[in-house]
Amino acid sequence: MPVRAIALTDFRNVASAEVHFGEGVNILVGSNAQGKTNLLEAIYLFALGKSFRGAKEAELVRFGASLAALRLDFSAGGREQTAAIRFSGGRRSVELNRVRLRRMSELVGAFRAVLFCPEHLSLIKEGPAARRGYLDIAISQQRPMYLQALQRYNLALRERNKLLKQAEENPRLLRDTVDLWSAQLAEQAAVIAPARLAYVREVEQAAARIFAEMTGERELPAFTYQGGFHLEADRCADPAAVRERVYGLLTAHLDREIGAGSTLWGVHRDDIAISLNGRSARLYGSQGQQRSLALAMKLAEGEICARLTGEKPVFLFDDVLSELDASRRAYLLREFADRQVIMTTCEGVEFPFEAHVVGVEGGTYTPHTHTREE
Ligand code: ATP
Ligand code: MG
Repeated sequence: MPVRAIALTDFRNVASAEVHFGEGVNILVGSNAQGKTNLLEAIYLFALGKSFRGAKEAELVRFGASLAALRLDFSAGGREQTAAIRFSGGRRSVELNRVRLRRMSELVGAFRAVLFCPEHLSLIKEGPAARRGYLDIAISQQRPMYLQALQRYNLALRERNKLLKQAEENPRLLRDTVDLWSAQLAEQAAVIAPARLAYVREVEQAAARIFAEMTGERELPAFTYQGGFHLEADRCADPAAVRERVYGLLTAHLDREIGAGSTLWGVHRDDIAISLNGRSARLYGSQGQQRSLALAMKLAEGEICARLTGEKPVFLFDDVLSELDASRRAYLLREFADRQVIMTTCEGVEFPFEAHVVGVEGGTYTPHTHTREE
């Protein structure tokens, strides 16, 4: 599903721009702070329904302007499509093919992209939240039901935690309503956990192959879904088992949870255990192995998406090449050969194939002539 073009008005440091992309590799070149990542953020906004940098909408509107408008032209499902987003003073409007959507999240799944930025290289080293984020972004783009369940879960979790924290001042409110939230958490966990388990199994297959090809290493990676509610991975495929276990834990240990002031079990405690030859990659993997595994997970995300949807997602690579050593870089460039990639770089990169180069300066984007390394 190639991106054809993006048009921006008063988005970040861009007053007005329309940038066109080729179906192969597109390179955004420019010095620091010129608007390279801003452009990827704009494109990915359509895939994710929010800023990948966690920015609030007001931060996305150009300083001094009151309204930001974005339009993305892309091809998906065998036809040309257009999505548009507009923000102004807390109000927003979203359209897909000129039909007004009620919420940003309804856009998710229409246009699919995989983002890779330097922070993702520490996906293995970081805490569980980073790995849950990886799963959520990947699965949401494939299953609208998943994103809906996640939003309901997170809302219920906030409400339940609020009740637990206020338990002393307001024991009655807790007693009357906590069960509703516990049931809601269990209900949504029964959607989320099986989907995460299935996805982790897909990741394991794809990432293990990519890891071996990329590094030539014999150490075999394994990825295991770990539900945050004491249920062995295999049983997490069964929604009823998940529902029952989560609800059981949330009703049996309320005193402990009041003491902690938070919900102690559920999918907000999930993780993916990642190992190499049976040993935790986080504890024992070398820096290089950890980075290769992280890269393999991201490439796997693209592969799984392509298999499930029948269309290759767009790869967005922010400043990643300069972070990689020669062999991983070479592997990545080979992988790039038959898909659309939009990548940013500060320095000139040499490419073994034709690329569409766009110069970035002060929020303006200028296409250069196509280049080929001699
Ligand atoms: P680097 O190579 O350092 O990553 P970059 O080209 O990716 O640089 P961006 O992150 O795209 O840089 O752009 C950063 C610039 O955008 C900064 O100068 C920042 O001040 C500016 N900027 C961010 N938000 C806004 C906004 N709402 N209005 C105007 N300018 C903004
Ligand atoms: Mg940047």
